[in-house]
Amino acid sequence: MEKLYRGIHKFQESYFKKEEDFFRRLSGKQDPDVLFITCADSRVDPTLVTQSRPGDLFIVRNVGNIIPPHDAIKDKNSVAAALEFAVLVLKVADIIVCGHSNCGAMKVLFQDEKEFRDMPHLREWVALSKIVRSHVEQYYPNTSASLKERIMEKENVLEQLKNLETYPFIAQALEKGVVYLHGWYYDIGAGEVLSFNPVTDSFEKIP
Ligand code: ZN
Repeated sequence: MEKLYRGIHKFQESYFKKEEDFFRRLSGKQDPDVLFITCADSRVDPTLVTQSRPGDLFIVRNVGNIIPPHDAIKDKNSVAAALEFAVLVLKVADIIVCGHSNCGAMKVLFQDEKEFRDMPHLREWVALSKIVRSHVEQYYPNTSASLKERIMEKENVLEQLKNLETYPFIAQALEKGVVYLHGWYYDIGAGEVLSFNPVTDSFEKIP
């Protein structure tokens, strides 16, 4: 914790002091253009990677950047609450789902369920995306385990984009052309961000 306390002091004495006017303007309200949904993984830092400032990104993070389909969780669906707020109140123009390399959630999904017997919440949460594993097992049967995981990380992003469309207000916003969906993949070791191109059906470097 000491490191964090030192960090807070450093923030207050240097960054905040220099940007006091900016933070004062920001304190009244937020008006982000982007809803950024990504993994809880400590190595993923959306603001660093996109060089964004406070107020730019409305961020939802969870294990495996999973968006439960509309009817998958009856109530207390925190992701759905964030979606409603971002789309209907903040009126974000873009929704990004960003997966990443070596995602622990995809490892959990890939491994034997018995290994996670004592972690029922984790097991059930990642199971929301179990279709991704079935797809990979079906279409890439002879691929190595590590490559399967890389494929799953990307397939998972595409699956979550589909899940977003199961929310009626998102489907409507897409139809009206007031919201756009983007599937991203962050390669931590390469510092690279790839974006899904539906025309070529592949993840490509952002131009
Ligand atoms: Zn992850």
